Amino acid sequence: MDFNLTDEQELFVSAVRELMQRENWEAYFAKCDDAHEYPIKWVKALAELGVDTMLLPEEQGGMGASFITLTAIWEELGRCGAPTYVLYQLPGFSTILRYGTQEQIDKIFAYRGTGEQMFNSAITEPSAGSDVGSLKTTYTKKDGKVYLNGQKCFITSSAKTPYLIVMARDSQSEKPVFTEWFVDMKKPGIKLTELNKLGLRMDSCCEIVFDNVELDEKDMFGTEGNGFNRVKEEFDAERFLVACTNYGIAYCAFEDAAKYANERVQFGETIGRTQLIQEKFAHMAMKLNAMKYMVYSTAFKMDRGENVTGESAMCKYYCANTAFEVVDEAMQVLGGIGVTGHRVSRFWRDLRVDRLSGGSDEMQILTLGRAVLKKYR
Ligand SMILES: Cc1cc2nc3c(=O)[nH]c(=O)nc-3n(C[C@H](O)[C@H](O)[C@H](O)COP(=O)(O)OP(=O)(O)OC[C@H]3O[C@@H](n4cnc5c(N)ncnc54)[C@H](O)[C@@H]3O)c2cc1C
Repeated sequence: MDFNLTDEQELFVSAVRELMQRENWEAYFAKCDDAHEYPIKWVKALAELGVDTMLLPEEQGGMGASFITLTAIWEELGRCGAPTYVLYQLPGFSTILRYGTQEQIDKIFAYRGTGEQMFNSAITEPSAGSDVGSLKTTYTKKDGKVYLNGQKCFITSSAKTPYLIVMARDSQSEKPVFTEWFVDMKKPGIKLTELNKLGLRMDSCCEIVFDNVELDEKDMFGTEGNGFNRVKEEFDAERFLVACTNYGIAYCAFEDAAKYANERVQFGETIGRTQLIQEKFAHMAMKLNAMKYMVYSTAFKMDRGENVTGESAMCKYYCANTAFEVVDEAMQVLGGIGVTGHRVSRFWRDLRVDRLSGGSDEMQILTLGRAVLKKYR
């Protein structure tokens, strides 16, 4: 595996680095995090560089970039302390292109370059978390229309997205038939309640009730009965992105702590000269290295079109937990500063949430265990 970046990839990474150095983004992120606001100004600036459409083919106005390129960009952004978790929507353009009707593609593509949030998937329900197959939201076909009824919870970005792709079961079928629906959030019968999250606060998270929401047959997303097959594909990419985000912010916390350890003097010497602090950096460096090669090797396989269900579960579990350990140690090195307004406090809160959102630690372990054994069957 060769992870060396080409000149073109290096150029893209330096453009992102320059953007991050152009202004005091950290002050902006801290303000957005505090106010639970989506950092639109920053996402728009990235979109102007083409980050939002980087995965799209050139004929669709994108860059046709590889997952290795995406990993390098996420690594650079994370290293600069940026909340790449709000960018999970961006690979969504490729999803719409693969499964959407022309009308749905046009609606979502209108958001290219704007930095605005456009859609997300709504699967989880109050009684269907890890056990997604037990979801109760229904669709009912009647007189040429479709009616959506049920409740979803923990739906990321949904306070702002104009559309949601909602998974529902056919109320008129004896067998379980799961289909997704492309829902315009302005429709009557939709009620949103925003939740107050511990971390990932620059993105919203809502509980949503669908009360007889009227749709048309043309609002179906993908094909009838194929809902779970489609989202399974999405899960691999989503988990991989969570891992890249986790690795990136661990890198940032590590560097913040290293600079501090080399400057902070106690007992007449910098704390970095003491062996207890050096031990922390040795462990942090090993963990960063392991995360780096895990995400890059998974990106390499994704670029070759290989199935990465096991690898993406491994990445998500390992990076969410290991990045949390790195950030926690960095916080310890920073002493009182680390817990009184420093960005590592934000990373620490964000990482704790990532061990649940996008599929819990336990579900990643089960997925990985199954995938590993399948290879030896
Ligand atoms: C911030 C956030 C954002 C989210 N965004 C979205 C979104 O945009 N769209 C969406 O559809 N969903 C979203 N989710 C839902 C998320 O995927 C679920 O929260 C997650 O899958 C866990 O479901 P749950 O919270 O109901 O926990 P449960 O499934 O009730 O699990 C509770 C605990 O039991 C464990 N557990 C459950 N079953 C087993 C088992 N068989 N063996 C061992 N342990 C088990 C779990 O791992 C967990 O630790 C989000 C969640 C959060 C927290």
